[in-house]
Amino acid sequence: MPNMSMTKNPMPAQEPDVRNKNFNEVALGYTEEQAIDEANRCLNCKHRPCVGGCPVQIEIPAFIAKVAEGDFEGAYEVITRSSSLPAICGRVCPQESQCEQRCVRGIKGEPVAIGRLERFVADWHMANSKEAPAKPEPNGHKVAVIGSGPSGLACAGDLAKKGYDVTVYEALHIAGGVLAYGIPEFRLPKAIVQKEIDGLKALGVKIETNVVIGKTISIDELFDEFGFESVFIGSGAGLPRFMNIPGENLNGVYSANEFLTRINLMKAYREDSKTPIKHPKKTVVVGGGNVAMDAARCAKRLGSDVTIVYRRTKAELPARAEEVEHAEEEGIKFAFLNNPVEVLGEEGWVSAVKCQVMELSEPDESGRRKPVPVEGEFQTIECDCMIMSIGTSPNPLIKSTTEGLETQKWGGIVAEEATGLTSREGVYAGGDAVTGAATVILAMGAGKTAAAGIDDYIQNK
Ligand code: FAD
Ligand code: SF4
Ligand code: SF4
Repeated sequence: MPNMSMTKNPMPAQEPDVRNKNFNEVALGYTEEQAIDEANRCLNCKHRPCVGGCPVQIEIPAFIAKVAEGDFEGAYEVITRSSSLPAICGRVCPQESQCEQRCVRGIKGEPVAIGRLERFVADWHMANSKEAPAKPEPNGHKVAVIGSGPSGLACAGDLAKKGYDVTVYEALHIAGGVLAYGIPEFRLPKAIVQKEIDGLKALGVKIETNVVIGKTISIDELFDEFGFESVFIGSGAGLPRFMNIPGENLNGVYSANEFLTRINLMKAYREDSKTPIKHPKKTVVVGGGNVAMDAARCAKRLGSDVTIVYRRTKAELPARAEEVEHAEEEGIKFAFLNNPVEVLGEEGWVSAVKCQVMELSEPDESGRRKPVPVEGEFQTIECDCMIMSIGTSPNPLIKSTTEGLETQKWGGIVAEEATGLTSREGVYAGGDAVTGAATVILAMGAGKTAAAGIDDYIQNK
């Protein structure tokens, strides 16, 4: 008999007033009993609508049925047929707009908590499985992967399982891409990312950090001098955009990427960290996406009063509803319908931001209401730290040092959707470097697609 409760089993979590002062994970995960109870809400629908909402088509009803039986390792096997990073995706996937959006239990109540169950299964496996993955027989072919974010890790993992000799080159000193330097510890503990990376190393994947492809080594050298037969570019979209307004170069103004990297990768909040970071009193974060929420919640944890400045209203915030709710619960304020026009300073440091007050226009033909300035109305918000979070684009370094690599006007690498092949023979690409800033699961899916493309290319060369 299914569990017909209209609501999901709630996720145990740290209290808002406790968690906004520490960097420990906010959500604590289901117990075995909670997971089985939640799995019993699944109706095992014949047409499996939820599977169509998952970018990598995890066999959702099949894994949930295993959870309901208490066969957690069996559930893990089902998930990992399609996904390489379940502990990560179970935590950070925007489930509400993917698998859970299509769940029939969502029609009259809350959908089955697919993401929470995926996280439970992956965590259970990490805690209980003693079996080390078998190292595959080498097939004698070498592939290079540029970037160790989810696209690069997924591509490397799939190729290593087929016996390829894979080397991942990473510009930073720690592997993981945005998983390591961007998404904060309180949403995705770094020990989990490290375990996924250790799993790849156990398969034989080599990871070379502090190597910038296009500077330290070029793609041509990877082929001609290092003997790689194919290269995957998973270099992400980490180049921050700025507003180009007066005062933006004052001390205390950060890009969200720099601020988050200092905190997540360099642990700048610890007393023993070698990386300095200002412990601000008043922070203004500009932007309304998930990255803005992460930056704001990190600044709060440094002890700052935080205001998010966004030029539209709450209804248009692009961040996940859950992230906005968490930010509000933690005491972060919002200044909607405000657009920064000047950063004001004192003795070289930011002291306030001057904002143009905005309003929404009447809906245009597409129904969209644009933010337009309210003539002559400005407000000034005091701050000693300002974090710009208005988007990123791919770094042009690889394009500018690689002959014959076609890119879009905005910098994205052109690659075939079905294989990841670029305009250059043997060179494949995927993830944010191709699509612009997107999601972990889409990047992971692109890495897997490219791994299949590379395998096909090398085997049929
Ligand atoms: P990345 O993760 O960006 O990895 C690229 C790697 O390549 C980096 O490590 C970089 O250092 C390296 N690199 C770049 N150039 C070179 C070079 N020339 N040589 C060698 N190495 C190089 N998505 C979600 O699904 N859920 C979330 O909750 C979420 N939150 C996010 C929060 C933040 C703060 C940010 C910034 C992004 C978030 N995203 C989220 C988006 C998601 O993280 C990205 O879409 C995803 O990481 C892209 O993966 P990738 O492999 O393409 O690139
Ligand atoms: Fe849902 Fe993401 Fe898991 Fe797919 S990977 S089932 S979309 S949580
Ligand atoms: Fe289960 Fe919902 Fe998928 Fe149906 S749609 S199989 S109830 S998860």
